[in-house]
Amino acid sequence: MSTSTASLDVLAIAAHRDDVEQTCGGTLLKMAQHGRRTGILDLTRGELGTRGTAESRAQEAAEAAKILRVSWRDALDIPDGRVENTWENRLKVAQVIREQRPQVVILPYWKGRHPDHYTASILGYEACFLAGLAKLNVARAPSPAKQDEGATSLPPHRPFKIIYATLYYDVRPTFVVDITELFEARFQALMAYKSQFSDQEAGKDLFPAQAEIRARIEAMARFYGLLGGVTYAEPFLQKEVGLVEDLTLIPVKSI
Ligand SMILES: [Zn+2]
Repeated sequence: MSTSTASLDVLAIAAHRDDVEQTCGGTLLKMAQHGRRTGILDLTRGELGTRGTAESRAQEAAEAAKILRVSWRDALDIPDGRVENTWENRLKVAQVIREQRPQVVILPYWKGRHPDHYTASILGYEACFLAGLAKLNVARAPSPAKQDEGATSLPPHRPFKIIYATLYYDVRPTFVVDITELFEARFQALMAYKSQFSDQEAGKDLFPAQAEIRARIEAMARFYGLLGGVTYAEPFLQKEVGLVEDLTLIPVKSI
């Protein structure tokens, strides 16, 4: 799945496999249905999870990507539970930005409970910036000995737009994407992570039962749907203001 050379329209970057499925999977599927090329970069491989192994999660991630009709998916080798905003990690992500040349990048929101999530946000933003520096030579995981050799530098690229998926944090989004028709598929993409979400003994005290997960996910999607005047939606935040051409076409009813 990681061989294509065509550039991506939308790339979602997140700390853990299954983060994207939970925060913006419906939006990615919607983009694919509109003919856009979408991709997912997971920064870690999930080797520290209570349930499953990095290998089983890789298979599950591929299955979920199929359901979401994602064109490209890869996982970096940043240690699970130790996503740090280091120069080396920024270069790893910048390399992917240059390879995949996304027009839009979706990052996690920059505050949250899990340090990997909020660190992934800052790391992703700084990597997008670095990827656009013409004179910076970016090579994947340069070892100190090979720093000069890995000089097959890709041309610089900076995404036009960076938006933040806010579902993990209680902050008011600046826009939502209607996923009413895609809610079921998104839920199935998440359930593709059988090692994490199927009802089982391991970690029973830590993980809610599947019916409870569905109820929670539905409640969140309903809440954000309500804000946008639709049934189910996913929340996002952009730092920029909205630009409007025609006042009569602004969506979401006021009164
Ligand atoms: Zn996560």
